[in-house]
Amino acid sequence: MVRLNEIRAHEVAVAPPPPTDAGLVFIGRIRTPWTSRLECPRQGRLDGPDCQIEIFAPWIAALDGIAAFERLEVLYWLDQSRRDLVRQSPADDGRTRGTFALRSPVRPNPIGTSIVALQAVAGAVLTVRGLDCLDGTPLVDLKPDRCLFTPLARPQPGDLQTADDTPAA
Ligand code: SAM
Repeated sequence: MVRLNEIRAHEVAVAPPPPTDAGLVFIGRIRTPWTSRLECPRQGRLDGPDCQIEIFAPWIAALDGIAAFERLEVLYWLDQSRRDLVRQSPADDGRTRGTFALRSPVRPNPIGTSIVALQAVAGAVLTVRGLDCLDGTPLVDLKPDRCLFTPLARPQPGDLQTADDTPAA
């Protein structure tokens, strides 16, 4: 994993197209104890330190119902990452692997995801455990953990479709 935007032996960068960021809207900001990438956990842990997720107006009303979920999926924008590596050397030992076979923050669209344990909801601020990002990291989305969520809408035909139902190409 590239930790401070350096290029390591045998890593491969490409010239990416100019980013447009798909018109993303950051819906909040994440507050964590970490101010350096060299101190962040590589992956959050559910018994890690309390972190705060601050939701911006006008999205605060979207928190209604969230307190019912013990765990949430958090998507965030790893804003300090370089975005041009296709091969990376996480151990900096000359061996590399393709970016899409890693959970490195260095990726063409630097989206991080974590499952977090929800501790408290107070107005526009959630307290959670399980994050691994820098203080101030922009928030992209929040969802209930898929294992805890049952769709409220009626099932659709595709919900029952399996690989055996699909005609071979
Ligand atoms: N849990 C997420 C995932 O799997 O998608 C992110 C994992 S990534 C390996 C976590 C690392 O990203 C941290 O250890 C830190 O080095 C780096 N990082 C954290 N916040 C960042 C930010 N705002 N910009 C760039 N890199 C960041």
